[in-house]
Amino acid sequence: MTETKPILPGATLGLMGGGQLGRMFAQAAAAMGYRVAVLEPQHGAPAAEVSAEHIEAPYNDADGLDRLAERCPCATTEFENVPAESLRRLAAKGTLTAPPAHAVAVTQDRNVEKHFVESVAGVPVAPHCAVLSEEDAAGVDEALFPGILKTARLGYDGKGQYRVKNRDELLQAFRSTNGVECVFEKMLPLKLELSVIVCRSLTGETKTFDAAENYHRNGILAVSVLPARISEAIAEKARAHAVRIADALEYVGVLCVEFFLLEDDTLLVNELAPRPHNSGHATIDACVTSQYEEQVRAMTGMPLGDTSRHSSAVMLNILGDEWFDAENRFRDPDWQAVLAVPGAKLHLYGKKEARRARKMGHVTCVAPTLDEAFERARAVARILG
Ligand code: ADP
Ligand code: MG
Repeated sequence: MTETKPILPGATLGLMGGGQLGRMFAQAAAAMGYRVAVLEPQHGAPAAEVSAEHIEAPYNDADGLDRLAERCPCATTEFENVPAESLRRLAAKGTLTAPPAHAVAVTQDRNVEKHFVESVAGVPVAPHCAVLSEEDAAGVDEALFPGILKTARLGYDGKGQYRVKNRDELLQAFRSTNGVECVFEKMLPLKLELSVIVCRSLTGETKTFDAAENYHRNGILAVSVLPARISEAIAEKARAHAVRIADALEYVGVLCVEFFLLEDDTLLVNELAPRPHNSGHATIDACVTSQYEEQVRAMTGMPLGDTSRHSSAVMLNILGDEWFDAENRFRDPDWQAVLAVPGAKLHLYGKKEARRARKMGHVTCVAPTLDEAFERARAVARILG
């Protein structure tokens, strides 16, 4: 890519999807003087609330996409299941899409993604095989048991996953998916789960953030620690892997690479997300440039910002469960008490209704050291109960 004429502040940036990741992108864009037009079917969605324009239409609506293309010299996405076909339509109308449709398409299918990471980018992944039929399930290598069957498409937050001990359970699990395409992975002894956010600009410039260390509860990211408590050598390797993958994808925008660190310090790629990531929320409060600002910079062809960290951070995800007390009565969490904790930064996504397991916001606790950040995070966790 040689086109380097940047899109300047004042322009309208297109956004596919109206969730919280889009909201934080729109906030970063507005801070730099860009307008945002969001394509999102849901009225009052988190990103629509803070965007200049809201095109209320489905993600694959031809008219909505054309209206977005008319307004926006470039567009991005905040969820990975954006139809790659929609991005192609925008591109055909002359709107630059970051990420490009071909890169998003790779990340939408776990089999394609694993093949790409391993064979094209040359970065190791977990031992696995594609399971597209009952015959495939019957023929899976014995060495892959016990393992996890994952639907190849549309899985998130641990949905569409089945842990199986043997071939019978695998067959049963495959049948319960109604025979959709799956990948079967060996269950690995994880020491840590890590993620690296890499940004790649139109000109091929790349920047990475420090690796984050991630903890899930019921399949949903609960706590993210920045920086991850790993050796310099592993941190460097993770960053190098992320850059290799972004380069191989000819990526433009913000890409999250999730890793498994095994008990023996083997580093494997788990999966990719072609967008800012939950585990990168802490970059807003702990880094010179946030992942959302980098998304704006990358898609507009502006120079990427300084990704270095000025603070350590522990990020706590806030789910709708926090709105229910022990007797299951509805009440607002004590935000005053949360904000009284030094270094606690509250981010709420403006969702009208708190439901259990719904991502409502997050609190990032920043401090000069990770120990202090943990202390503050524990104080916040006690308040949220
Ligand atoms: P999702 O799209 O739902 O995030 P992932 O592939 O990241 O799907 O899997 C969700 C979680 O399940 C991971 O974060 C990890 O904790 C666990 N997991 C997934 N694959 C494996 C594996 N091969 N070995 C051990 N744990 C795994
Ligand atoms: Mg994951």
